[in-house]
Amino acid sequence: MDKQKQIKAPRGTYDILPDSSYKWSWINKKFAETAAAFRYLEMVTPVFESSQLFERSVGGQTDIVEKEMYKFKDRKGRLLALRPEGTAPVVRSYIENNLQAGNSTAKLYYNGPMFRYDRPQKGRYRQFYQYGIEYIGTADPYADTEVILFSDMLISRLGLTNYRLEINSIGCSKCSESYNQVLSNYFAKYGDELCGDCRKRLINNPKRLLDCKVSSCKAIAEDAPSIVDYLDEECSEHFSQVKSYLDLLEVDYIVNPKIVRGLDYYNRTAFELIDILTETQNALLGGGRYDTLIASLGGKKTPAVGMAGGIERLIAAMERENLEFGMEPKPEVYVINNDCSTKKEAIKLTAELRKNGLWVEFEIDKNSFNKQFKTALKSGAAFAVIIGPEEVATGTVTIKNLTIEEQKRYKNSEATGYLKEKLR
Ligand code: AMP
Repeated sequence: MDKQKQIKAPRGTYDILPDSSYKWSWINKKFAETAAAFRYLEMVTPVFESSQLFERSVGGQTDIVEKEMYKFKDRKGRLLALRPEGTAPVVRSYIENNLQAGNSTAKLYYNGPMFRYDRPQKGRYRQFYQYGIEYIGTADPYADTEVILFSDMLISRLGLTNYRLEINSIGCSKCSESYNQVLSNYFAKYGDELCGDCRKRLINNPKRLLDCKVSSCKAIAEDAPSIVDYLDEECSEHFSQVKSYLDLLEVDYIVNPKIVRGLDYYNRTAFELIDILTETQNALLGGGRYDTLIASLGGKKTPAVGMAGGIERLIAAMERENLEFGMEPKPEVYVINNDCSTKKEAIKLTAELRKNGLWVEFEIDKNSFNKQFKTALKSGAAFAVIIGPEEVATGTVTIKNLTIEEQKRYKNSEATGYLKEKLR
């Protein structure tokens, strides 16, 4: 018989396996806790949207839309895209569901899979998991600071310490007019030395040359004129205030005039948190202000600011720093029985312990006492409860503390109370 060819997960995707899924849960939990502390409410949007949404918001000439978007036609010929990012869908929904009505501001968060057809490598996947927040409806520079503070607090709640906050202002369309001209003149001098993409960017969006990852372009960008010198008075004042609030809150940062962010809709504040323990894919998260996006998608003119980050990069950073992920799904109690004579008593006790909220593993295989004991030790459980023929005959159970290797008999009626007291 022909052996069927094994089907594998698509390139650039991966499975979250049971031995590590708790890491994802932990980060989701910490993110949701931080969102609650800052009073952001969750929003869930579809995984696919009209492709136009991203073309009109992220920008038709950005890498994300031009090269990386999973775009397809459905059976009725509608042009759809798997979402490459979360802000445009949130804004689409905000406008469509009239969330503006009666509220001056909306504070929203999302968390889910995003899709980009990029060259897969460590820290860069075709399906990745991204969380983000959007603070919609205020132009106050404190909102920018608060989004940055949220980011900083999330990262430090995870225990990470080896990161750096980099901030910039990319101004508004008025500042960009003069700056783009100066930047084009600067880069035009290097003509053929620029990579193919940058030669195109020179015509369409010269700011994007500043964050090209090709080393020869990077070297040229080193001495490029800085946007900070071309900000108009209002943008400059806005940036000063963002910085002064960061100073007030004692958040460390450096100004990096090369941060431009890869999406068209940003203006004024742009920031990234950089993992300093790695050189590649080191942006833990990034964000910025987008005051024109909502109007450009058909809503009322509404200023907004937000941030987004990938869960994979947080996990990798936490692993690099040897940090603990809480919620590792170890059993607390492991019930050991003798299949021939004590299985029923063990099943009943297991049910009772679980009813009392304890995390209990019950050995279903017909393994010997010794083997069950070894599995209990390996499982990381704090206690083993042994129910053998002798225990059944005397109406007792043996409880063994697996950490200090001490054991004692307890009456059946006392066992649950004892374990609850020790574990809760
Ligand atoms: P962006 O939406 O490109 O500004 O990215 C924001 C954050 O999302 C980055 O700092 C990463 O943490 C994460 N991210 C973006 N693209 C990917 C990807 N292809 N794979 C994994 N994480 C990503």
